[in-house]
Amino acid sequence: MSSGHSPPVVVLGAGWAGLTAALTLARAGRPVHLIEAARTAGGRARSLNLDATELDNGQHVLVGACRATLAQMNALGVNTETGFHTLPFGLRMFTPGQAESPPAFRLEPRSPRLPALAAALYRALPQSRFRERLRALRGAAAMLHRPLRDDLPVRDWLHANHQPPALIHALWDPLCLAVMNTPPRHASARIFQHVLRLALNHGPQAARLLLPARPLGTLFPEPALQELRARGARIDLGHRVTALESRADDPTASFRLHGRAGDPLPARGLILATTPAAAARLLPASRPWRPTQRGLQAMGARSICTVYLRYPHPLHEVAPLQGLLDQHGQWLIPRHLTGAPHWLAVVISAADDLQALTAPVRWRTVAHSLAETFPQLGTPEAGHTVCERRATVDARTGLDGQRPSPRTPWRGCILAGDYLTHALPSTLEAAVQSGLESAHLFLEDHP
Ligand SMILES: Cc1cc2nc3c(=O)[nH]c(=O)nc-3n(C[C@H](O)[C@H](O)[C@H](O)COP(=O)(O)OP(=O)(O)OC[C@H]3O[C@@H](n4cnc5c(N)ncnc54)[C@H](O)[C@@H]3O)c2cc1C
Repeated sequence: MSSGHSPPVVVLGAGWAGLTAALTLARAGRPVHLIEAARTAGGRARSLNLDATELDNGQHVLVGACRATLAQMNALGVNTETGFHTLPFGLRMFTPGQAESPPAFRLEPRSPRLPALAAALYRALPQSRFRERLRALRGAAAMLHRPLRDDLPVRDWLHANHQPPALIHALWDPLCLAVMNTPPRHASARIFQHVLRLALNHGPQAARLLLPARPLGTLFPEPALQELRARGARIDLGHRVTALESRADDPTASFRLHGRAGDPLPARGLILATTPAAAARLLPASRPWRPTQRGLQAMGARSICTVYLRYPHPLHEVAPLQGLLDQHGQWLIPRHLTGAPHWLAVVISAADDLQALTAPVRWRTVAHSLAETFPQLGTPEAGHTVCERRATVDARTGLDGQRPSPRTPWRGCILAGDYLTHALPSTLEAAVQSGLESAHLFLEDHP
């Protein structure tokens, strides 16, 4: 299908939200023009090349409950059974100086259902007295099953539900950071509870942890571009749009997009699938736009740093996902899972307040702290630090009430992006759900 004479719907931003919106519109028979500032598609979830090895900009862990994301991949012909390394829900947390001993904390229920979870939690608290264990179990059950009316910080919610300090330290704090990328003293308990309930209240399939078994680009962005091309969509990578103009006087082309070079591009409709900060810069600030602008500017951002370490020997024996307590970073993910056996990734969530270190000092510090916990790893021969300053929205208390609406004062201009999906933190699932919603809203308004 070609765009013919009618101007296309422009999708601005080829992250997972924009790609999903573009695919949905192209599958509905609409002419699509996808424009992306970077030279590769994928946005905050993309492949990158380090020392001639294909790695990712960050470690992306999904759960089986990410239904929209998995469905999008399947629709592109990506086999999600082989595309991911699957683990049953569980956590193994290690502290420094433990040298080859069992994890300091382990939560590995036989199933995510309440009785098995309760038994695993009970076993995980060997130091506590019987009454404390019982109170913690009843509190955890309430956290999973009693909907929260008012939002509050995760830390306060944990205290209100009698979670003992040992459990907060070894389980809830790391889980909250992993899910929300926001420290528990600020993070929204409602959003955290929603994610826990989605993952843990729907059986073993929903609770599975899915680690990419291939570089991220091959799981969605590249096959998405392939299908879009096959459907006749125009794709411009490496093209930053710097200004938008609405053309109420022209009934065929409602918008014009300006870049640094070339003529303005006409658009019949516009899906603005950028980050909230980029959308705020591109959209007007006049009175009718104030609610949209207020929402966009309220989103805030939190960073994630990934430290990649390259060892002289292959590391096939390193388990897929291990938690790090009291260390420089929270998760260790070996990259033999994606065919890079000499590489390990250490994830540092909510990295905003990290002590300022140069990239080489950072990876050496991480390698040193890792060697105290896992001396068998030896010394890496090289390392890299990849920091994403705006990795996720700040998932703080009250966030849901501040999100902008995807519809804007310009009819035919719709927002898309992970920050718009209610009750979810910034995730691929939130991005894909929002991409679907933006395309459906557009099709509803322009049947
Ligand atoms: C290190 C890291 C780890 C993460 N871990 C996980 C995880 O474990 N699980 C999970 O589900 N999620 C994780 N996430 C979050 C997930 O990656 C994001 O929620 C998701 O990728 C956001 O997609 P998006 O399409 O909404 O936005 P983006 O990916 O930000 O896409 C927006 C796109 O718009 C483009 N753009 C902006 N301005 C312009 C312009 N003016 N002109 C043209 N193009 C423009 C940008 O270049 C970008 O490609 C992680 C993110 C990071 C960074």
